[in-house]
Amino acid sequence: DDRIARISSAIRVIPDFPKPGIMFQDITTLLLDPKAFKDTIDLFVERYKGKDISVVAGIEARGFIFGPPIALAIGAKFVPMRKPKKLPGEVISEEYSLEYGTDKMEMHVGAVQAGERALVIDDLIATGGTLCAAIRLLERVGVHVVECACVIELADLKGRERLGDKQLFVLVSSL
Ligand code: IMP
Repeated sequence: DDRIARISSAIRVIPDFPKPGIMFQDITTLLLDPKAFKDTIDLFVERYKGKDISVVAGIEARGFIFGPPIALAIGAKFVPMRKPKKLPGEVISEEYSLEYGTDKMEMHVGAVQAGERALVIDDLIATGGTLCAAIRLLERVGVHVVECACVIELADLKGRERLGDKQLFVLVSSL
């Protein structure tokens, strides 16, 4: 698929951000290329249309960029998975570990119903800890997570293995 090459080359890599030694994959340059951005959304839509998915759960912050256009195109609702203390209503939360310390992810109670089928979307999977927290949050309320999808996978970090038998779909795999 020649769309993948265009998407891949539209992603910018910034060395030493946010700290020395990190090669930051920056998707904001992908958003500046309307064709590459549209191809990104189209590839996800082609994969998930007709799969009976009623929930697209997007992870803050960059899952909020890719999730909504996919949700609209496949006729699903969009549910934001947010950092702590951002959602105004009653929430359920799930803690997960970072390189140093822990973080929390929150979702509104009542946003999803038991038995719904969800796609979880983020820009990038590194260790997989963030996606795992999103999966746990949805499964706790009886939602079936059909698949996780990211634009980029940092394959070296083996986050895919951490997801266990949960399927992961990515457009670009990077080292
Ligand atoms: P993980 O939990 O280790 O898989 O980290 C994934 C999370 O960190 C995602 O929400 C990403 O948006 C963010 N992240 C980690 N590295 C990068 C990067 O190089 N570019 C953009 N986001 C990143």
